[in-house]
Amino acid sequence: MGVYSKLVYLIDMDGTIYRGTCPIEYAKEFIRYLQQKNRIFFLVTNCPLNSAGALARKVQGMRIDVGPGNIITSADVTADYLVSSTSCSKAYVVGSDALKEKIAGRGIGIVSEGPDCVVVGYDTEFSYEKMKKATQFILDGAGFICTNGDSTIPDGNKLVPHTGAIAASIETASGTKPVVIGKPERYLLDTVSRRVKCKKEQFCVVGDRLDTDIYFGVKQNILSFLVLTGVTTIDDLKKSNIQPTKVFNNLCELMLFDEENN
Ligand SMILES: [Mg+2]
Repeated sequence: MGVYSKLVYLIDMDGTIYRGTCPIEYAKEFIRYLQQKNRIFFLVTNCPLNSAGALARKVQGMRIDVGPGNIITSADVTADYLVSSTSCSKAYVVGSDALKEKIAGRGIGIVSEGPDCVVVGYDTEFSYEKMKKATQFILDGAGFICTNGDSTIPDGNKLVPHTGAIAASIETASGTKPVVIGKPERYLLDTVSRRVKCKKEQFCVVGDRLDTDIYFGVKQNILSFLVLTGVTTIDDLKKSNIQPTKVFNNLCELMLFDEENN
């Protein structure tokens, strides 16, 4: 078996599969190709705001045929982490209903008093009151877990504060660093390994960002393929000390490369 055969693709969404609400060229064909070859793949996102079901509906609306079982968000990975690596039974959650439902679905109580851990995700209704509560609980000894460390997220043509910025305020106030779950940390690989049987050498992250997707590959020592359909340009790539295993102009090139190696 060659280095590039039977890769298990962990495919970033925004900038790789779609741009905002528009599908990216060859995304549909690439996904269909993987399905026809019975290959294991997941669409992955650091954003815990929407459930896998809601994201599946979004991509299906772009005629990209992916079900929720093929989508992993940082909320899924966080819930796995809480169950497998902590003794948390009651959580105070700063985040979306989708994140709360995911955690509650694993048997952890969602509470507003006396939690044993504080979970921080993307919360568009974050307030001083929530910051204060989270800080107090952590000072009282609760664990501190953050779904993802991203400082900003694109919103149309602008950047808006993301989970990392919310967690930073609580970190400053409490003097405690959170356990960060999303890329580039390793926990996504733990979740994938629980769902499917594969070797670490088969993992390959596909994405458009050097500082998250490709850095995840570098940090976790797995293959990383950069696609130039999102934020990174060839110029950015030349200047960066974060380098992918391979670069493709688009998913069509990647599909042809994969076909040659399988
Ligand atoms: Mg992206």
